[in-house]
Amino acid sequence: MKRKPDCLFCKIIAGEIPSYKVYEDEKIYAFLDISQGTRGHTLIVPKAHADSIYDLEEAHAAALFALVPKLSNQLKRAFNPIGINLISNNEQPYQTVGHFHLHLLPRYEGDGLTLSMVNRQSDYDQQAYVEVLDTIKAAQ
Ligand code: 5GP
Ligand code: ZN
Repeated sequence: MKRKPDCLFCKIIAGEIPSYKVYEDEKIYAFLDISQGTRGHTLIVPKAHADSIYDLEEAHAAALFALVPKLSNQLKRAFNPIGINLISNNEQPYQTVGHFHLHLLPRYEGDGLTLSMVNRQSDYDQQAYVEVLDTIKAAQ
């Protein structure tokens, strides 16, 4: 299994640093986020080290995302949240641990978490949308 020296999550996966393990299989490890931003806050990580989404192998991404409905349902049964957010921060300054991870954040009434989208639709006409689309397509 690919490891990176001094990677916190590689050490957790190897059992060198203790964690509250939620799930484990050959490719994937899931454990409680130490911060418990909300009750049940869980991290899902590939066992093979990847710095971020940009170098996550497709097979590891497939194995990780295949687990998301199962673990989300487990958290839903466990804590009866009003919803769940799936979040992955990639690259600094948003990503504070350099081993790819997906946050499962059950949401509760009045949980104090502020994660809000901004609607900039009024800044975009058809041409502006097409420009964005063409830029993405050109980067394939
Ligand atoms: P990021 O900021 O990269 O999106 O998320 C990193 C997450 O790792 C944070 O939510 C933080 O609470 C969690 N974290 C940092 N150190 C540890 C640790 O030693 N154990 C566990 N279980 N979580 C950690
Ligand atoms: Zn790692």
